[in-house]
Amino acid sequence: MAKDQTNSLLELLYRVSREVATALDLRTVLQRVLYAAIDNVGGERGSIVVMDDDGKPVDSVIVYGRRIHDDTTQQLRVTVERGLAGWVVRNRKAALLPDTSQDRRWLRRPDDAIQKTGAKSAICVPLLAREKIVGVLTLVHSIPNAFNENHLQLMQAIADQAGVAVLNARLYTESQRQARVMTALADGAVTINASLQMQDVFQRILNQTIQALQVETVALALREKGSGDFVFRAATGKDAGNLVDRRVPAGQGLIGKVLKDRRGIVIPAIKKSTMSERAIFEGIDSKAIAMAPIQAQGKIIGVLEAINPISGIFDPDALLVMTGIGSLAGSTIQNAELFERVEETQKRYYELFNDSIDPILISDLSGNILEANRQAITLSGYTAEELRQFDVRKLHADGAERFDIDFDELEDYQLHKYETGLQTSENEKIPVEVYVRTIDFQNDQALQWTFRDITERKELDRLRDDMASMIYHDLRSPLANILSSLSMLQPNKQDAGDDDSDIALLRIAQHSAERIQRLVASLLDINRLESGQNILTQESVEAFPIVQEAVEAVKPSANSRQQTLILNIPTDLPNIWADADVLRRVLINLLENASKFTPQGGKIEIGATREDDTHIRFWVADNGVGIAPENRQHIFEKFARLQNTATVSGLGVGLAFCRLAISAHSGQIWVEEEEPKGTRFNLTIPISTKKEENA
Ligand code: ADP
Repeated sequence: MAKDQTNSLLELLYRVSREVATALDLRTVLQRVLYAAIDNVGGERGSIVVMDDDGKPVDSVIVYGRRIHDDTTQQLRVTVERGLAGWVVRNRKAALLPDTSQDRRWLRRPDDAIQKTGAKSAICVPLLAREKIVGVLTLVHSIPNAFNENHLQLMQAIADQAGVAVLNARLYTESQRQARVMTALADGAVTINASLQMQDVFQRILNQTIQALQVETVALALREKGSGDFVFRAATGKDAGNLVDRRVPAGQGLIGKVLKDRRGIVIPAIKKSTMSERAIFEGIDSKAIAMAPIQAQGKIIGVLEAINPISGIFDPDALLVMTGIGSLAGSTIQNAELFERVEETQKRYYELFNDSIDPILISDLSGNILEANRQAITLSGYTAEELRQFDVRKLHADGAERFDIDFDELEDYQLHKYETGLQTSENEKIPVEVYVRTIDFQNDQALQWTFRDITERKELDRLRDDMASMIYHDLRSPLANILSSLSMLQPNKQDAGDDDSDIALLRIAQHSAERIQRLVASLLDINRLESGQNILTQESVEAFPIVQEAVEAVKPSANSRQQTLILNIPTDLPNIWADADVLRRVLINLLENASKFTPQGGKIEIGATREDDTHIRFWVADNGVGIAPENRQHIFEKFARLQNTATVSGLGVGLAFCRLAISAHSGQIWVEEEEPKGTRFNLTIPISTKKEENA
């Protein structure tokens, strides 16, 4: 090679390298390389195909004379796959084809035959950078044998200069594109997530898509629960109104394909013949369409569609952006759905709360009222706003039970129940039963207070109490008179030796009067014990005589019912610490019950035994009707009478008296089942500690 030839070559390469290296945009770099090649090597047309790291064509430029053709990648793909460029890539070698008609590497195109231009000459060289093929550069001359080895060498030299620049430009374009996608998605994430109102969420998704993809129309279809059909729920852009509410049966058309492949598709040109697609896009002149699945938790819940890019064709990363927006949209739609459901449930809860017949309040854990239902407003006389200013204590009447509530004790998710007075705005005090429990309210722990109006029940209780005291006062003194008269009569009769039937009648009268007296005494004692008075006169007494007297008292009625009375008391029992009169009445009560609730001819047993070091246990057992386990607690309440014994007369105060009297003795009373049938009442009384008196 001559010296000035070498010089001009160097100069050329320097120029090429400077020109291509100063551009960053891939298309510009490719154009400049192509012009440099055509200008210095010759030929009428040239092309460059750029490949990614996997050897897939990603961009290309064709120069025809001075005319540039972009977006020719699709067109050139065949050459890369089967033609000359493919051969060069596979062999990593340059190729010189003096006569294309003589070379099988040359892919014959239709124009080769039609224009009858037939034979041409061509040079094709690989563009290498860092040992990798980044593209292929091809020059074609319309005359065979126009290119020779010199041209090939020059091409190779230009290609060597261009390789790195092409790679850089490609990487730069990729990073630009990635940055664009990232920005689009990041913008999407911010805007799409900003709302939880469904229609608003839809609109944001659509706006984001239309902006990121620059298309005429976007639409969003969601899978309908049940049918599985896809229904267009929102659309925006040109003719968007025609899409909303359209329905695509499950699995049909493009949506069906997206569903099946579980990924988006881009259709550069829609075939007008596809029936189902025509039905959907009726009223929309759709040329190109991109579709991406809307996914939430791995499930496709809908599709996002972009129709007709403004530029005519979709960007290579349109699908990527759409898929990104699709999965963002999925979780946001799901959140909005959940939110709607929560709102719905809350609404329903609120309705239940408001319509409850009981007044209900909700307070925080320190008692500040947060919510009040309609009934609470009615009963308290305060407005909802007033109630929300209050501490729940303010509704507890001054001095009423639980006026100072121990809030710590209430926070255990158990139901707490107590009675108190509700202080109204009119300064009235309504008797209420309060149920308190911890609930979760608006993501926080709260207390729910149900106030049940018990005015009526209280009124009834008061009537009964009034009646009890009336009976007591109006009966006690006449009764005492009857009894003393009877006892005065009795010895006289005996002395006179009158006939036995009179004495028997007198006995009956006396027994009955004594029973009435015991009942009156029990009623009085209940009242006094309930109000906390200590009515007992406890002393160290023997148990046996008390039991015996009790048995004597009920003997007549037991005898009249042919019931056997068995006494079961050891002789060596220690003295007890008791009020003999009260204990006797307790035992008589139990014996009378046993007789009442045991059929004729039944068996009744009374006994006592040492329970432990400190207590004697008494019992009264019968083989009568028995008491169901669920009632064994309840029978000790005042006025409690059981259904199955309703035919037997009684007030239901006997056992209430027994309970109060025994607990005043610091003892216990309970009921058990008697085997094989019947009832056994047990009670414990403390053993006297006064040793000297026992002796
Ligand atoms: P009264 O006997 O006046 O009804 P009590 O307080 O003595 O009231 O008893 C309450 C209820 O307990 C009775 O009505 C009855 O239903 C039940 N009861 C008490 N003792 C017995 C028993 N020995 N056997 C079966 N039921 C009994």
